[in-house]
Amino acid sequence: MLAISDKRLTERAYEMADEARHKFPCPTAPNAAQELDKIVADHPWIAHAFIFDKPTGTIVRSQGSKMSDPESRAEGVKLQNEVQLWFSIEAESLLEKVRKMQHKGDKPYFAFSYPASKGDKHPAYQNVLIFPIDAAAKDRITLGGICFDSGYLQHEFFPGALNSIMADTEADASRDSSHPKIGMMLHQYRDYEPMAASLGWDGGEPEVERKMEGAFPDLVMAIKYQGTTIQAITQRFLRTSYITLGCISLLLISGLYFTYRSVNKAMELAKLKSDIVSNVSHELRTPLSLIRLYAETLELGRIPDDAKQLEYYRIIRKESERLTALINNILDFSRIEAGKKEYEFRDTDLSSLVRSTLDAYRYQIEQNGFTYEEYITDELPPVRIDREAMARSLLNLVNNAIKYSNQDKYLAVSLYRSNGSVKLDVVDHGIGIPRAEQHKIFDKFYRVCDPLCHENKGSGLGLSLVQHIVQAHGGEVSVESTPGKGSKFSITLPLHAAIKSAEGSKPANQEVHTVGA
Ligand code: ADP
Repeated sequence: MLAISDKRLTERAYEMADEARHKFPCPTAPNAAQELDKIVADHPWIAHAFIFDKPTGTIVRSQGSKMSDPESRAEGVKLQNEVQLWFSIEAESLLEKVRKMQHKGDKPYFAFSYPASKGDKHPAYQNVLIFPIDAAAKDRITLGGICFDSGYLQHEFFPGALNSIMADTEADASRDSSHPKIGMMLHQYRDYEPMAASLGWDGGEPEVERKMEGAFPDLVMAIKYQGTTIQAITQRFLRTSYITLGCISLLLISGLYFTYRSVNKAMELAKLKSDIVSNVSHELRTPLSLIRLYAETLELGRIPDDAKQLEYYRIIRKESERLTALINNILDFSRIEAGKKEYEFRDTDLSSLVRSTLDAYRYQIEQNGFTYEEYITDELPPVRIDREAMARSLLNLVNNAIKYSNQDKYLAVSLYRSNGSVKLDVVDHGIGIPRAEQHKIFDKFYRVCDPLCHENKGSGLGLSLVQHIVQAHGGEVSVESTPGKGSKFSITLPLHAAIKSAEGSKPANQEVHTVGA
């Protein structure tokens, strides 16, 4: 921008100088001095105009209005002496230089600034443009020159030019509101006091400087943003970039994380589905094939022994019960998942429900070689429960105790009152459950992956159903277990509602609740 501004100032200065240059007379013309006077008079921005002609010497003419000022007069005399002295040595090469420029189609000007008077702290900027004179003979070493009026430059030319450059820049910048406004200033080389400044200049240190190269040598053009610095802009830019980068990285990482999670979940689900299909079909196949085998044997009439026949019938009944239990679990589960599971709450004698449920199972328990103990209190008030669902929960726990026991076959079921609630414990001396797995076994489809659990096929639905049923009754189910020693599953049901209904005069009433998954 500084280079372009320098060029614009130079072009403007050359345009003004062109007007005067074309009027410069031939040095040998009798009225050359008068012509020069006229040029100076017609162009008030010219402080001095001169012609250097090697054979005849130097003519310097100054602005008439300034001639009364002794300083301007002294300046004119000084200029004449210096031009005479310097040009008598340099004129030839200078002329060649400007003629070459003219030949190339460039503006034929050579600019220089003249030394500031010593002792003056902020001397006025003096500059001269020299050029070939069109009217002079080609073989003559003749040069014309004009010296700009320093007051005109400082108070009119530079501020006007800088403001018009600024106006153009601001028009560009206004299209982008985030672009801060700028200010421009000119100072002399080695003198940092601003000589001229645009309207937007608000003082302070310039951000960028550039020594001018065109019509105004020894001047420095400086630029800065209004109300901010490049450092502050850079810092703000860096800060926004880092924040944007941080946000993008965060989005990317969370995107990766969620993709990873959903892929993982999809894989887990796929594995779960195939596990369920294989487990459930195994669970269904075993009792079905046993039923078929014993039914076929009986059908063939090959068992004459009545006791044996009875045993076969019992096995068929037992296996069909197992099948029913499994199908009930699956049906319950699908009802819960669909939010259609309904409970029929009735005031129930829990002790007799637990007893009758276990009675139907006692044979199977003992057949499996289990030591069986039962501690069932009779001092319970009626409890408001869904009989079938509660019986199914108990059977799931008992089944698990049988399924997950090895050599030490022990099963104990206790029902007792404890602190305003009823507790139903199912204890075994089986394989136990590692602590880390204990909170997961109530999740649907979850199975502990122990070699032993693989031997015992299952659907992973039993405990999740137990938990759902117990929670629907306002209670909770918990486990205490030590691997290798056994487990204790406890169902805790609140008693207060039951007691209230027991105390009331009304007979056992019935409610139906639908509880979702
Ligand atoms: P399933 O028995 O069909 O696998 P459950 O939901 O009933 O499904 O049980 C979940 C898991 O909890 C079982 O796979 C088993 O690993 C563990 N588990 C349940 N009951 C016991 C128990 N009494 N002893 C040891 N582990 C058990």
